[in-house]
Amino acid sequence: MRRYSAFAVAREAARYHEGWARAWRSPEPKTKYDVIIVGAGGHGLATAFYLGRNFGITNVAIIEKGWLGGGNTGRNTTIIRSNYLQDPSAAIYEKSRSLYETMSQDLNYNVMFSPRGVLMLAQTEHEVRGYQRTAHANALQGVETEFVGPERVKELVPIISLDGPRYPVLGGLWQARGGTGRHDAVAWGYARACSDMGMDIIQQCEVIGIRKDGGKIVGVDTTKGAIDCDKLGVVVAGHSGTLAEMAGFRLPIESVALQALVSEPIKPCMDIVVMANTVHGYLSQSDKGEMVIGGGADGYNNYTQRGSFHHIEETVRALVETFPMVSRLKMLRQWGGIVDMTGDRSPILSKTPVENVFFNCGWGTGGFKATPGSGWGFAELVAKGHSPLCEDFGLNRFREGRFVDESVAAGVAH
Ligand SMILES: Cc1cc2nc3c(=O)[nH]c(=O)nc-3n(C[C@H](O)[C@H](O)[C@H](O)COP(=O)(O)OP(=O)(O)OC[C@H]3O[C@@H](n4cnc5c(N)ncnc54)[C@H](O)[C@@H]3O)c2cc1C
Repeated sequence: MRRYSAFAVAREAARYHEGWARAWRSPEPKTKYDVIIVGAGGHGLATAFYLGRNFGITNVAIIEKGWLGGGNTGRNTTIIRSNYLQDPSAAIYEKSRSLYETMSQDLNYNVMFSPRGVLMLAQTEHEVRGYQRTAHANALQGVETEFVGPERVKELVPIISLDGPRYPVLGGLWQARGGTGRHDAVAWGYARACSDMGMDIIQQCEVIGIRKDGGKIVGVDTTKGAIDCDKLGVVVAGHSGTLAEMAGFRLPIESVALQALVSEPIKPCMDIVVMANTVHGYLSQSDKGEMVIGGGADGYNNYTQRGSFHHIEETVRALVETFPMVSRLKMLRQWGGIVDMTGDRSPILSKTPVENVFFNCGWGTGGFKATPGSGWGFAELVAKGHSPLCEDFGLNRFREGRFVDESVAAGVAH
């Protein structure tokens, strides 16, 4: 793989950009791989990358029914933070946030990580207490956050109105090293690096069956034929329930639509990410100047990748209370993704009842930020059968009642 560099950009500019090679190969599937990963979203590609980088396992296929990054990875609002409450969550999300800091260099691909800071507004006394508690927990976990008062909030976000008609702003949980990244670039960067290691990324190929022999994985049936493997990692977010059914077991997961929208581009007016979880809305400004807006998930299960109109209305109405300037914005477009929600709002990174089949799912509304950390831990689980980062996120926690309750930190916010 030829390295991307300022020199390469200058050289290509001089010859009309005709010398760029394809970023990844599009091979036909082989008959057998050591490991098959189903799902070429960020988490599947990161898993494959760290299988190769950390464990030298490169006879790997990543099978994707659509185009890579076309699921939730390419549909999210790109918020990256690690201010969760429970220790196992802080460990995996902070690992992830720190991997984002060097990702562009590690992948030789500009993922536009922008550590601009993330502020979660406290708009009720209950939220003030909740976020103060999280700040204390984060201090013990080594995650840098602080609870700030309304004056500091106004300094950080001049366009905010502190005296909302329903909920005044009482303070906020501030993580200065949180931020955003370019979601497609994360998928493309991992894909390019995986392809360079000799892995096969097979797009437009749907897994339609999982073959077992005596409770052990043999391979998968796909729309491009049968492919055998020694190990199978399933990383398909909102479609995890469907794949689990193919493997012969059920997951404690619900699939629901989550949507987002962007406004027309406007002048720079907000250089951090702000989330208002009491009213269910959050906001950041893209490099192009669009205001990127998200809200809560739909209240019913579905697979439509669209989302309902009343949620858009609720989200925008909520944001207008705290950011009156939103009422003057014209909205450009809206889209949805299907997210995979567990009861405790924590992910599943686990072995399963089928030997050598592993599932990575349940990231719900907030898994983009976890992409590198999830891939790092899940690769270790697949390669070695155990991983400290994944230990508390096994399927057995639902049977044993050892929940990792993140409903406050992850229920709606990202
Ligand atoms: C509107 C919206 C906003 C969000 N905002 C944020 C945010 O700001 N911050 C944050 O951290 N998270 C956010 N999220 C959540 C985040 O996007 C996801 O948690 C994360 O991207 C999941 O990545 P993934 O790789 O697991 O899944 P995906 O990117 O969905 O990848 C799964 C892939 O599996 C493929 N697949 C499914 N079934 C099959 C099959 N049978 N055969 C082959 N392939 C299959 C799919 O086509 C898909 O490409 C948001 C999500 C949405 C929808």
